[in-house]
Amino acid sequence: MCTGIHAIPSGPWEFPEAVYSFVICDEKNVMIDAGVANSVMDVGFLDRLDYVVVTHLHIDHLGTLAEVVQRYRPKVLVYQGYSKYLRDPSKVNQGGKSVLGEVADIYGEVEPVNGEILEVGGGEVIDLGDRKMELLYTPGHAKHHISVLIDGILYAGDSAGGRYNGLPIPTTPPPLNLRDYVNSLRRQISLRPKAVGLAHGGLVNPSHMGEHLEQILKGKYRVDVNLGGEAEVILKKHLEVNYRGIEEALLKEKLDCNAST
Ligand SMILES: [Zn+2]
Repeated sequence: MCTGIHAIPSGPWEFPEAVYSFVICDEKNVMIDAGVANSVMDVGFLDRLDYVVVTHLHIDHLGTLAEVVQRYRPKVLVYQGYSKYLRDPSKVNQGGKSVLGEVADIYGEVEPVNGEILEVGGGEVIDLGDRKMELLYTPGHAKHHISVLIDGILYAGDSAGGRYNGLPIPTTPPPLNLRDYVNSLRRQISLRPKAVGLAHGGLVNPSHMGEHLEQILKGKYRVDVNLGGEAEVILKKHLEVNYRGIEEALLKEKLDCNAST
C-alpha cells in the first residue's frame, strides 16, 4: 500500500533526475506528471491510482502517461481545450522534436492516451481524503500550464524553474510568455508553500522561487551547473533552449514596446 509523498526520478537512464514525477497517496492517490517515455520511473509500489495531473503538454511530462493510464485507469486532469492533444499527441511530439532536437530522441515519443480525461481551468478543489488538491492556472512556460497545491506543498511543474546542485535554472523554452511566467511565479510565491516540487529538480525549499524570480528579473539566468557525464550534456542542451526562450521573449517585448511608442 502506498502512503505519503514520493518524488520519483522519471528521466532517461542517462539522466534520471532530469525529470521528476510526484505521487501523493491518500484515500485517493495522485500522480503529477509522467516523465519521459524512455524512463527509469518505477511506480510498482502503487496498487491503485485515481488521478494523474498533467501540468502541461511537453514530451518530458507525458512519456509514461499512456502506459500508466492503461495500467491503473486514473482520471487524467489537463488544462481546458487540450485533451485532444493527449488523445493524438502528434503535435506534442513534433513540438518536442523542433524545440529539443536530438534530446527528444533520448526522451522518446509520447503515445496516444486512451482513458478518461477531465479538462480543468484552475480553481478546482478535489478531495483526496485527509488532503485536498487545488488546481492553479499558471501560464507562461506554456499557455496551458497548471500547478497543483496539496497540503501546503506546491507542485509547480515547469512554472517555477528547475534546480540542480543547489542552483536555480531557467525552464523557459520558446515560445515563452515572459510576462505571464513572472506573474505566475509571483502568484505562487505569494501562496507561501512549505515546499515546492519541481519537475526539473525534485522537492526543494520554497526560497528557491524567490531566487529563481531574481535570476529572471536581473537577467542572471545563464548558469554553470556541473553534473558531469551524459547528464551534464543533456542539461546543457536544455539550458541553451531555455536561454533562447528568454532572449526571444525579451526581444519581442522590445519590439512590441517600440511599435506602440
Ligand atoms: Zn519540462
